[in-house]
Amino acid sequence: MEKADLIITNAHILTMDKNLTEYERGDIVVKDGKIVDIGEDVGKNYTGSVIDASGKIAIPGLINVHTHAAMTLLRGYGSDNPLKVWLEEYIWPVENRFVSYEFVKDGTDLACYEMLKNGVTCFVDMYFFEDAVAESVKQAGMRAVLCTGILDFPNPGAKTPEEGIEKTKDFIAKFKTDEHIYPCVGPHAPYTCSPKTLEMAMEVAEEFDTLFHIHLSETEFEVHQIKERYRNTPVKHLHNVGVLNDRVLAAHVVHPTDEEIELIAERGVKVAHCPESNLKLASGIAPVPKMLKAGITVGIGTDGTASNDDLDIIGEISTAAKLHKGYWKDPTVVNAKEALLMATREGARALRLEDKIGSLEKGKYADIVLIDKRKPHLQPMFDPYTQIVYSGKGLDVNTVIVGGRLLVKNREVLTVDREYVLYKSSYWYKKISENT
Ligand SMILES: [Zn+2]
Repeated sequence: MEKADLIITNAHILTMDKNLTEYERGDIVVKDGKIVDIGEDVGKNYTGSVIDASGKIAIPGLINVHTHAAMTLLRGYGSDNPLKVWLEEYIWPVENRFVSYEFVKDGTDLACYEMLKNGVTCFVDMYFFEDAVAESVKQAGMRAVLCTGILDFPNPGAKTPEEGIEKTKDFIAKFKTDEHIYPCVGPHAPYTCSPKTLEMAMEVAEEFDTLFHIHLSETEFEVHQIKERYRNTPVKHLHNVGVLNDRVLAAHVVHPTDEEIELIAERGVKVAHCPESNLKLASGIAPVPKMLKAGITVGIGTDGTASNDDLDIIGEISTAAKLHKGYWKDPTVVNAKEALLMATREGARALRLEDKIGSLEKGKYADIVLIDKRKPHLQPMFDPYTQIVYSGKGLDVNTVIVGGRLLVKNREVLTVDREYVLYKSSYWYKKISENT
């Protein structure tokens, strides 16, 4: 008998590997944070602590490929306004006044609690004071791809884009070899970053071999503004500047032309699809079926909670799967498997982390979610993919494991203090509401 750290037995396993291998009753064996064995009855060959997952579905840890975690503290703030008004009259002024290391730490703690409850094990964050985000992520035991938002105008993180770039370099140097924090470069958007800023940002991404995360073609207003300034549409504009390549993870991409979709596919750009944020801010509906047809890697993101307003990634894939059927009047587009892939293997590919996470396979990190299937709203279960995507809720998540470490047990988050995050969110609510 070989020694293991953890053996999950009797699970209905959806591996989400490239053959979508499924075990109706299988075991997952974990050692040194990684999966060392998976399949029917393989657990009997090992000794170690056991989690009996009878009645549960095991899926890879869910991946949220675009958020601004600390914006949990602005949940609901300035709702029901167009993006431009919401940003310029509500969000940016409040951020400039209140965002600090403490704000970001407290907001990210709240976000980590909520994401863990919803089965998210890895997320992408673009915000300010990313050191505080990293501290929260490490305390929570999750993984995250983190970048400082770089903008041409003064913001809570930096006074100039050059300062934003310097902070990005320092942050990358600090976390380059970390197993939980994957630093990257985050120029905010083509309408907030000049071509020079975008070029500087890409130089850093290339020098340190990281992702280049940007908001792109989010609203018609952006398309209009970029056309006026540069006589081009946003995706083509990035191409002209020379920053459209396979490092790019582009959030939203709601308004690409057909030619731009081809360009995105050709250049290997990945897309972070954020349907609920796009709906709430009335930005539009991204042409995801066309993107998938073109072979583009599409992951799923919640965006910040001020524009969603939750971090439930299962709810997000459910929205995605239904939204595109309705919009295209075609029930075959974005099926349940494709939707779940966006939050698992394709999400990992969007982050260039497909060798480490995104599916339950030997050699990958043991980032595992167990969903309780003994719930009336999930029964009877003819097809587990369908049930997770169309009937499931984030709160059906029973157990969350990251790198073999138990972070959520029987729906209780073990690594983030619930009472403390509740106390801190009411503290910030009072501070913001009394001073605005
Ligand atoms: Zn965003």
